[in-house]
Amino acid sequence: MLSLLCLINETAERVDIMSEIKDNVMAIVGANWGDEGKGKITDIKAQMADVVVRFQGGSNAGHTILNEYGKFALHQLPSGIFGRGVVNVIGNGCALNLEYLEKEMGTVTYIVPDMQFNLMIDQRVSLVLPHHIMLDALEEERRGDRQFGSTKAGIAPFYSEKYIKESIQFSEIFDGERLKERLKHLYDKVNLTLEHLYKAPAVDYMDVYDYLMKYKPFAEQYMGDSFAFLHKAWKEGKKILLEGQLGALRDPSFGIYPYVTSSHTVAGFASVGAGLPPYAINCIMAVTKAYSSCVGAGPFVTEWFDEQAEELRKRGGDAGEYGATTGRPRRVGPFDAVATRYGAMCQGATELAMTGIDVLAYMSEIPVCVAYEVDGKHLTDFPTGAQLDRAKPVYEMLPGFKEDIRHIRNFDDLPENAKNYVRFIEKQVGLPITLLSNGPKRDEIVNL
Ligand code: GDP
Repeated sequence: MLSLLCLINETAERVDIMSEIKDNVMAIVGANWGDEGKGKITDIKAQMADVVVRFQGGSNAGHTILNEYGKFALHQLPSGIFGRGVVNVIGNGCALNLEYLEKEMGTVTYIVPDMQFNLMIDQRVSLVLPHHIMLDALEEERRGDRQFGSTKAGIAPFYSEKYIKESIQFSEIFDGERLKERLKHLYDKVNLTLEHLYKAPAVDYMDVYDYLMKYKPFAEQYMGDSFAFLHKAWKEGKKILLEGQLGALRDPSFGIYPYVTSSHTVAGFASVGAGLPPYAINCIMAVTKAYSSCVGAGPFVTEWFDEQAEELRKRGGDAGEYGATTGRPRRVGPFDAVATRYGAMCQGATELAMTGIDVLAYMSEIPVCVAYEVDGKHLTDFPTGAQLDRAKPVYEMLPGFKEDIRHIRNFDDLPENAKNYVRFIEKQVGLPITLLSNGPKRDEIVNL
């Protein structure tokens, strides 16, 4: 098999990140378990984009953005929402919760009172309904000590229902009697599950109808045919950013199954979840952190524990490594080159963005996991199942740089050991790092 390592060499081509988006359609996606800092990267790139699209996921994860207006955790809103003149699209592949979206927009308006939401919600996106959230919580409770660590935003029941062809599409809330009929049929079955499997009270479908009617006036101002809109924008050569949620290792096909999310987090799905031809996507930026972090359950080979973890957690992110949606402490550890190389391959990444290099400033030596030891053998390809459960990290130690680098804006001004760290990761992953972030704020970027 041709190794990705063949694709770059010591002098991997570097680009100025503040220059134009090189290609018209760019996907920004996670190489790891999520929380890689995609929100910040998309917010930066959105300054130069015409359209930003969310193509999968719902209110179960958050993208943190720190900009001139303040700090925001965006859950359903695309990260281009603060870009002037940028059209923001919630694509058909997302899980749309109208109630939560209205609240999220209210939170933004509270901080930015004259906020103009340049938002289009695709008419074909399916709706998250209150029973999805109930079922999510009931199922986690049923699983007892085998819980997935769900954010209880209803995402797994939502996507299950979508793929058994029973969910309600956004445009259907304008269908009056037809909607009532669809809801009646849906709740005949949902109630069997609620009452018999979970011993929970049934839901009256007319209450759900009234609930949807409550959000109709808010929702209708944003509904559009984003499929037609995006095709037109693409044909006109507009710059389009496709924004992924979570990361490759949470993809239901490629990730650490069953500790995955229920929609595809890989850039290949952007074509479906946004509605563009696969060949329209000509640049895929996989975002990774300079260390590892992970929210939720599942194998996490480089996980640190106790004081070692607490130290890194405290120094990570913008105010420690705590979930943007749940506030849960994130699991943390050193950079995992085995997982990141695999994650970048799943994404079909053409380049990498690395965030959080500033966080490593306290370490005298920086460990990087370069292989997994499984039953006495060293693996460099990401394993599955029991092999992954048994994997132990094999570390290479790199010298630390031991100084605050958040003020540095040019790669050449970084301490030599920080530069070496970046080059080492590029070689390990087999892709050039074209964007290096050294702090949570928008302008904390190192020009490469
Ligand atoms: P996303 O879901 O991929 O957008 O990631 P999150 O927003 O959930 O988590 C990323 C965290 O890292 C947030 O707290 C960001 O503010 C923070 N962050 C992003 N880039 C950097 C960086 O370069 N340095 C530091 N210290 N924090 C960063």
